[in-house]
Amino acid sequence: MNIHEYQAKQLFTVYGVPVPKGDIAECAANAAKVAEQLGGDAWVVKAQIHAGARGKAGGVKLARDAREVAEHAAEMLGKRLVTHQTDAFGLPVNCVWVEEASAIKNEFYLSLLLDRESERLLFVASAAGGMDIEAVAAETPEKIVRIPVHPAAGLQAYQGRQIGAALGLGKEQQVQLPAILNGMYELFLSKDCSQIEINPLIETEDGKLLALDGKINFDDNALALHPDIAALRDASQEDPKEAEAKQFDLNYITLGGNIGCMVNGAGLAMATMDMVKLKGGAPANFLDVGGGTNKDKVKEAFKLILSDGTVKAVLVNIFGGIVKCDVIAAGILAAVEDMHLTIPVVVRLEGTNVEQGLAMLKNSGLGLTPAEDLNQAAELAVKLAQEVA
Ligand code: GDP
Ligand code: MN
Repeated sequence: MNIHEYQAKQLFTVYGVPVPKGDIAECAANAAKVAEQLGGDAWVVKAQIHAGARGKAGGVKLARDAREVAEHAAEMLGKRLVTHQTDAFGLPVNCVWVEEASAIKNEFYLSLLLDRESERLLFVASAAGGMDIEAVAAETPEKIVRIPVHPAAGLQAYQGRQIGAALGLGKEQQVQLPAILNGMYELFLSKDCSQIEINPLIETEDGKLLALDGKINFDDNALALHPDIAALRDASQEDPKEAEAKQFDLNYITLGGNIGCMVNGAGLAMATMDMVKLKGGAPANFLDVGGGTNKDKVKEAFKLILSDGTVKAVLVNIFGGIVKCDVIAAGILAAVEDMHLTIPVVVRLEGTNVEQGLAMLKNSGLGLTPAEDLNQAAELAVKLAQEVA
């Protein structure tokens, strides 16, 4: 689960990671009020969405007086912000964070994440932080250092000095770094995070280190242990289809192509998407209907796939192991008939009672296209989708 920057900054404060003073506002008038309450002579208005790269998309704006704060807030609020980290529709801006502007001397990158390869938490740091960190990673990866933390030993003081050296910190800033690193480490462990990213961590003109931005991801499987974190969920930032799928115990992820995929088993679903790609197509989604699926679930799965207007063909790939193929076939027929499906549906069935299942599809008169194997199924789906398009 993701949270907003302002929520991350509130958590940072609890764990001793310094952030600029600020508050949220849900309308332009309140944004101006926040600026007045904060005092000072410059503020930054920041659109709160579950995506980064807002700076380059007009979602982070400097204001010199309260009227300008209100103007920026009015521009952002109630609209969708598209950044290169969102899809083409962007995400809704329902609130802005207004903070006192910082005079930046240096921008650094600092994050803590779970490195699955070394099975350790890993600090990732770079002196070249800020809005172009992706380019740094691609072009000059040697500018990024990685410091793994041994789970038994915990974060060591010398590792803090290593990170400080990599960032090129002065003495005065080096002294401030351990509190930030320890705060991140403690927050990560106590709230079951999967990533904490501060980009940029800044050094201000008067020598202070501050987390100017904050991004935290949490392990969904641990949310039941952290009701305070679960309460930070903002459904408006999540794909409504993915949320609906969760209700029906379906594993669904939107991908943007035009071939809807309905598969049982996550591994088979991955293989199916690979085959679609191999044949020159693009999957519209990942969908695992689960091992013990039934007629209703198959129908819900079809509904989800078809609610995506870009789908031009559906590829059903089911291995009837726990569920028998004739049961699946009945589910597919019911769904197709109920929903008056007009786009091509390619079905590859394999497993227990496959002959009965295929015969049911063939005799249905619903114009389904059975395939003999996955190779042929993917080929057919890609071809039919192109014809429809
Ligand atoms: P992101 O683009 O979504 O990652 O949003 P950030 O919060 O990281 O802001 C983007 C960029 O805006 C930062 O890298 C800074 O260069 C700039 N910025 C944000 N806040 C301030 C501020 O208080 N003062 C100054 N001078 N620049 C800021
Ligand atoms: Mn940022």
